[in-house]
Amino acid sequence: MSEPGKPRGRSFPLSLDKLTPVARSVATRPSAAAPALTPARPTAPERKPNLLRPQRLLQQAALDRERQVRPAGLGLDSELVRARMVERLRAQGIRDEKVLAAMLAVPRHLFVDTALANQAYEDTALPIGLQQTISKPSVVARMLELMRGNRGDAMLQRVLEIGTGCGYQAAVLAHLARLVVSVERLKALHDKARELLAPWRADNVRLVYGDGMLGHPPNAPYDGIVAAAGGEAIQQAWLDQLAVGGRLVAPVVRGSTQVLVLVERNDRGFVRSEHEAVHFVPLKSGTT
Ligand code: SAH
Repeated sequence: MSEPGKPRGRSFPLSLDKLTPVARSVATRPSAAAPALTPARPTAPERKPNLLRPQRLLQQAALDRERQVRPAGLGLDSELVRARMVERLRAQGIRDEKVLAAMLAVPRHLFVDTALANQAYEDTALPIGLQQTISKPSVVARMLELMRGNRGDAMLQRVLEIGTGCGYQAAVLAHLARLVVSVERLKALHDKARELLAPWRADNVRLVYGDGMLGHPPNAPYDGIVAAAGGEAIQQAWLDQLAVGGRLVAPVVRGSTQVLVLVERNDRGFVRSEHEAVHFVPLKSGTT
């Protein structure tokens, strides 16, 4: 669903915005949906009127799907519930409008089990299987705000996420960066995230099965790195793969708890600061 006039290859970060209502509606019919989501690059005169029709059909499909999967208590339109979540994030002190907009756009309830979906917009971590959790919205917002720094409306170029989990934060990051590389060490979760993200045609998200403690050198350097699992220390590989001007945010174990650590790289080296206490699942080495 590219904007008319924009070549699709470079369009993605807007596609999550544009696809929000479509969400999982296309999951059951990817091949049928694909042409409508990816209109062939038309010549200029053809673009205007006829691109709108398939979008309307998809929106209807999305509404139908939303009705099917809407869990009890989520209300008529999950976007309204999400808007309330965003207002709470604002009230909690999140100031980065671009992060708030990204979180408004991504339907978190589609990333958790249907049985948990009515809790999806509460500020709580939820289980996603294999003893892992989807991070709570306020922590996702805070980490992404810290990682972006004062960039205003600008997109980051390349971002590395350690710990894809179910793919929720990767979907949020897709609104904030031109390329998101997300590494997961548990094959089952990597596959699950791939499945959950597939309907979005999130072609600026690259999911990697591997040990994120090593980062992901092929796409380095990154101007943002965010870890969703708490380690004993910031990994040297992450520092090596952080671009000059880049910012890294990771939970680091501090006694019996963890703190959010921000590392900013400038042309003279690294500046480290510590922020609030958090509680993430542990960072582990190797793959399973
Ligand atoms: N980003 C997720 C949170 C996932 S929980 C969200 O949107 O909510 C943290 C994830 O980090 C788990 O899935 C866990 O398996 C993964 N993880 C832990 N150590 C890792 C490592 N070394 N490399 C990659 N992933 C890791």
